[in-house]
Amino acid sequence: MNYEFFMRAALAESSAAAASGELADGAVAVLDEALVAHGRAQVRATGDPTAHAVICALREAARRLGRGSLSGLTVFSVVEPCTMCVGALLASDADGIVFALGDPTEGAAGSAVQLADGERLSRRLRVVSGILQEAAGEVRPDLRDVRGSAARGFARAR
Ligand SMILES: [Zn+2]
Repeated sequence: MNYEFFMRAALAESSAAAASGELADGAVAVLDEALVAHGRAQVRATGDPTAHAVICALREAARRLGRGSLSGLTVFSVVEPCTMCVGALLASDADGIVFALGDPTEGAAGSAVQLADGERLSRRLRVVSGILQEAAGEVRPDLRDVRGSAARGFARAR
């Protein structure tokens, strides 16, 4: 898996979201080493509070693949996903989440809470963090100095 290549694509989505007046929140979905969907925050444009980048990427991936179960899918997100987005990843049967920056107040892959790879849920995601952290910090300066989960010793791969 070319982590940096796909994270660069997620960073481009973040920049595009910011350029259109949204939070700089971007993601892409990857299946079998191929990019199958893009997502960027559209909360302001659509008035939909659930239109986070990960959700938008999952919706597009499901539409393109023509199935509601997204097993095999890995989602790359610039920022650690929130509880809603991790819930959607679990519900979709996605395999994993890769992110650049941890989010200490919203992140649900270990920073604020651990839903992604918890002991008690029947589904778990493979979590990889810290990919292209410096470049992501340029896009999200609010989270730049948060070394987040990578610094706290979460597994980079499993
Ligand atoms: Zn979210």
